[in-house]
Amino acid sequence: MNELQKSIIYLNGVGPNRHALLKDEFGIDTIQDLIHFFPSRYLDRTKFHKINQLPNSISEIQIIGSITNLRTIQSKNKSRLIGSFEDETGAIDLIWFRGHKWIASNLKLNTPYIVFGKINNFNGSINMPHPEIELLSSFKLKKRISFNTIYPTTERAINSGITQNIFKKMFYEFFESYSKPFRESLPTNLLSYIGLISNDLAIRNIHFPESLEMLAKAQKRLKFEEFFYLQIQILIKNKQRKKKIKGYIFSDIGVNFNDFFHHHLSFNLTNAQVKVIKEIRKDLATGRQMNRLLQGDVGSGKTIVAFMSMLISIDNGFQSCLMAPTEILAQQHYKLFKKLSEKIGVKVDIITGSVKKSKRIPILERLKIGEVDILIGTHALIEDPVIFKNLGLAIIDEQHRFGVAQRSKLWMKNTLPPHILVMTATPIPRTLAMTLYGDLDISVIDELPPGRKMIKTVHRNDSKRLSVFNFIKKEIKMGRQIYIVYPLIEESEKMDYKDLMDGYESISRSFPLPKYKISILNGKMKNIDKEYEMNRFIKGETQIMVSTTVIEVGVNVPNASVMVIESSERFGLSQLHQLRGRVGRGNNQSYCILMTGNKLSKDSKLRINTMVKTNNGFEIADVDLKLRGPGNMMGTQQSGVLNLKIADLINDNDLLILARESVKKILEIDENLEKKSNQCIKHTLSEIGTFKNIWNYIS
Ligand code: ADP
Ligand code: MG
Repeated sequence: MNELQKSIIYLNGVGPNRHALLKDEFGIDTIQDLIHFFPSRYLDRTKFHKINQLPNSISEIQIIGSITNLRTIQSKNKSRLIGSFEDETGAIDLIWFRGHKWIASNLKLNTPYIVFGKINNFNGSINMPHPEIELLSSFKLKKRISFNTIYPTTERAINSGITQNIFKKMFYEFFESYSKPFRESLPTNLLSYIGLISNDLAIRNIHFPESLEMLAKAQKRLKFEEFFYLQIQILIKNKQRKKKIKGYIFSDIGVNFNDFFHHHLSFNLTNAQVKVIKEIRKDLATGRQMNRLLQGDVGSGKTIVAFMSMLISIDNGFQSCLMAPTEILAQQHYKLFKKLSEKIGVKVDIITGSVKKSKRIPILERLKIGEVDILIGTHALIEDPVIFKNLGLAIIDEQHRFGVAQRSKLWMKNTLPPHILVMTATPIPRTLAMTLYGDLDISVIDELPPGRKMIKTVHRNDSKRLSVFNFIKKEIKMGRQIYIVYPLIEESEKMDYKDLMDGYESISRSFPLPKYKISILNGKMKNIDKEYEMNRFIKGETQIMVSTTVIEVGVNVPNASVMVIESSERFGLSQLHQLRGRVGRGNNQSYCILMTGNKLSKDSKLRINTMVKTNNGFEIADVDLKLRGPGNMMGTQQSGVLNLKIADLINDNDLLILARESVKKILEIDENLEKKSNQCIKHTLSEIGTFKNIWNYIS
């Protein structure tokens, strides 16, 4: 066995308990895992500061000096220990709030020490709370590491005694005793071409940097490597996928598509819609399974693209289905598709949780013998009794609501997998898309239908509620409709529910019957009631819809012109953007009013300001990525791809592109990695095993 594959239990000081803990908390099982557990921060311990020249920064610094006196100060029920610490240029206070006695009895006065810590400037006097402190004489004796490495840790690890010192000791012991070079994982010509140091140097320097310069080189090398192996796995899989997965050939563009396109389309498609339909048409005719992501901002007209794609499927003798994340949305699609289909004689049906058994059974039977052309539904669609005669195209709307496993179920129902089109209004930032999908097919509708006016977005405090209500009244007078949305976040569901009900009551008071009619919608209501309320609003019987975020996705009421979002500081950016997309769907000037309390966190402010500043989903996605980090972006949780150890999608974008280009070049020349120089890649890939999760995302 390769020595690095041994369990860390063989290291001095690591027993079964510590091993289990390190494995649980950090995934460190083998030595290989350990050496790839990188510090998250480094502190420069080569620099000493003079007291009269302390930097104005928040990072830790170190000073050489002596303690000239120690005193305990009592205030109320707390006491603190203060030591005056002097060098030849001035004095600061060292402060301890805990452990005085031990500290006071162990410190020596007027003896040179090194203190290390953060500097506080309190009312003009400078102090350093809870410094690390060490006698200068013993500091000089030790073989110093010029950088203090800080490893990422967890509360549980700290509480179980895995301190930074323990980490350092583990690494120190291992590196002291292991003198063999670490195997190189990248081709040497690539290393010299990009200007990267060897794996061996990089691994040693990432844990024990010789200098700042070497640290930077080690980081660059390891980041590049991480991106390189991420990309190579994605691109190899991609090639295999494109080669292997056969799909139905939809070569005919027949009567249904043409009839609809020429005679029944009530508007001209936008150029972007035309482009995307062409891309889809082309995909469907290749004999490979289509696996395409369709991105288009809210209101960009994805639904009609979905419908027309389904007509292609029908023209070629196949069924299609459309899966929506909510009952409301499924119903809405059903109504629209039914209306559109009636003109051309295409048969549409719906299956959701609330479609009664007596209705459901005949639908299922018709589906099985091919008498249903288009089936619309919620996740009920992929439940066991739903059997298609020949499903040729599956479309998934607003996919972030669906679990991955559910999607792959659709596959099982056929001999060949159906073509898959996933539609989303939440744009995925380019870097993320690149990382997640490699070359996977993405279509973008980057244009809104003509005549749309920019939604005007404003931020209002609770104190402006009256003027907001007056504004709403004016809009209603002009015949428009209003959404008022309350947050409903799982952890505090009860309280949120109360907020919603209180809100509803106060709105009912401000907008009294009979002049104003209000609908209310929340997740706790029965589907039939939800549908009833939604329909009243769609038909214009009610002017105000008070709702939780159940209406977030996809709902289309073009006459609605104002979206009021209560406690909007509690929503994420993509959610805010989705909600705002419920208005601005017709030709009226539309408004989004973001209500917040007075106190906002920095992040909330940035979110609100971003919403006020831009309507562009891609810009919003970028800010979202920066705020939340890639791990929290939609869809990525399941992918596991983005548990990057050292590289950072946002800050290391250049390296990502470089790695990707390098991988492409290598695979172009040596697709199966047979060249001698590429054996190190093959070896490393076999060590990594396959990243099973990557393809979860779209499959
Ligand atoms: P989304 O992309 O958010 O799903 P929809 O498909 O619901 O958007 O479309 C929003 C609205 O725009 C619908 O009322 C739809 O009929 C309309 N629409 C779509 N395409 C066009 C177009 N090319 N011209 C005019 N209106 C369009
Ligand atoms: Mg939609």
